[in-house]
Amino acid sequence: MSAFSLQLTDDQRTVRDWVHTFAADVLRPAAAEWDEREETPWPILQEAAKIGLYSLDFFSTQAFDPTGLGIPLTMEELFWGDAGLGLSIVGTTLAAAGVVASGTPEQVATWAPQMFGTPDDVKVAAFCSSEPDAGSDVSAMRTRATWDEATGEWVLNGVKTWATNGGIAHIHIVVATLDPTLGARGQASFVVPPGTPGLRQGQKFKKHGIRASHTAEVILDNVRVPADCILGGKDKIDERLARAREGGRAGRSNAAMATFESSRPAVGAQAVGIARAAYEYALDYAKTREQFGRPIIDNQAVAFTLADMRTRIDAARLLVWRASWMATTGQSFDAAEGSMSKLYAGETAKWVTTNAMQILGGNGFTREYPVERMHRDSAIYTIFEGTSEIQRLVIARTISGVPIR
Ligand SMILES: Cc1cc2nc3c(=O)[nH]c(=O)nc-3n(C[C@H](O)[C@H](O)[C@H](O)COP(=O)(O)OP(=O)(O)OC[C@H]3O[C@@H](n4cnc5c(N)ncnc54)[C@H](O)[C@@H]3O)c2cc1C
Repeated sequence: MSAFSLQLTDDQRTVRDWVHTFAADVLRPAAAEWDEREETPWPILQEAAKIGLYSLDFFSTQAFDPTGLGIPLTMEELFWGDAGLGLSIVGTTLAAAGVVASGTPEQVATWAPQMFGTPDDVKVAAFCSSEPDAGSDVSAMRTRATWDEATGEWVLNGVKTWATNGGIAHIHIVVATLDPTLGARGQASFVVPPGTPGLRQGQKFKKHGIRASHTAEVILDNVRVPADCILGGKDKIDERLARAREGGRAGRSNAAMATFESSRPAVGAQAVGIARAAYEYALDYAKTREQFGRPIIDNQAVAFTLADMRTRIDAARLLVWRASWMATTGQSFDAAEGSMSKLYAGETAKWVTTNAMQILGGNGFTREYPVERMHRDSAIYTIFEGTSEIQRLVIARTISGVPIR
């Protein structure tokens, strides 16, 4: 193992600067328009695909960065550009992570490339875990998967909600229960291939922020998928269920949690990107806006707020980098470091954007200035991929060993 260093490699700096240029030149100028249109920005996805940014190849190369920093660096720059457009670009990666977390190498090779399509025919994918009555409590999931012995197919029935790219996705990854009596341990993930009858979009949500990202219900009505669409393979899942029924350990995590664990630091990095964008804007504004005959940054009240913003952003980034490095180098999260990074980065983004708005005064409250959008966008970061309360629950249980409720 090399000596401790926070120095980025030449490759990492090159990737970061390349994504930054795309974020500055393509995402920033388009952000307000797509926020208002509140629909999937296909032309932006196409532009990202044409330069190779929206591709399995790019994201998997970053995911295989041996230091773990490839994905956080990419996320921070994209979301510095714009969070709604950023999520439209990276929404597919949550579904891809679902396949990587639970699938066999053959399943990853079959399905992951299809999720992105090609630059001429761009596709997106969706990861469907949440349900109307199973949000934080993943174990309450009702969507059922049953095995049809006669046809050798899985049959999925249920209602998923809040799915990013739900209904417009080429491929949906659906978490379903095979045995509701086992709670989260009775669940598995399924690939629903393109054009499968019975899957349709329900309500599309009108949201407070990240409005360029499509969020919708997904209805599963007798959706039949081939036997090999269960991630991990039928035999392995059958064995896991048998162990769970005998009361043994059925593996540390269930299908949904395996996906979320691997994606939490990446989501934290998105929040860092939003926070940094709002902080930079507020810093520039504070230096140029004059009141009482001097720039407002001359007042400690304003300057100290900016000092706190920068400190919290840097602390959040370091927590994200630590968690990503630990995950990549195979270290276990003994103090729930992944949850810690997402918790702190999400809360930081909300705090920083709120204070940035304050520094901009009345202007901060209008859509003429981007901080208003950043403030709305930041709000989701204490809600999705596990709310702040759930992150605290995970951390508290992990550090104490006490089954805190
Ligand atoms: C824009 C958006 C995109 C999303 N994308 C996806 C996606 O792609 N795929 C997907 O599967 N899901 C997605 N989600 C769902 C998201 O993960 C859930 O909204 C989230 O997990 C919270 O669930 P819930 O909304 O049902 O809230 P609830 O679970 O009902 O929680 C409500 C409140 O109660 C608190 N609470 C609940 N239980 C406890 C407890 N034990 N202790 C303390 N407090 C508690 C929560 O912290 C929260 O404050 C998305 C959501 C949104 C809004």
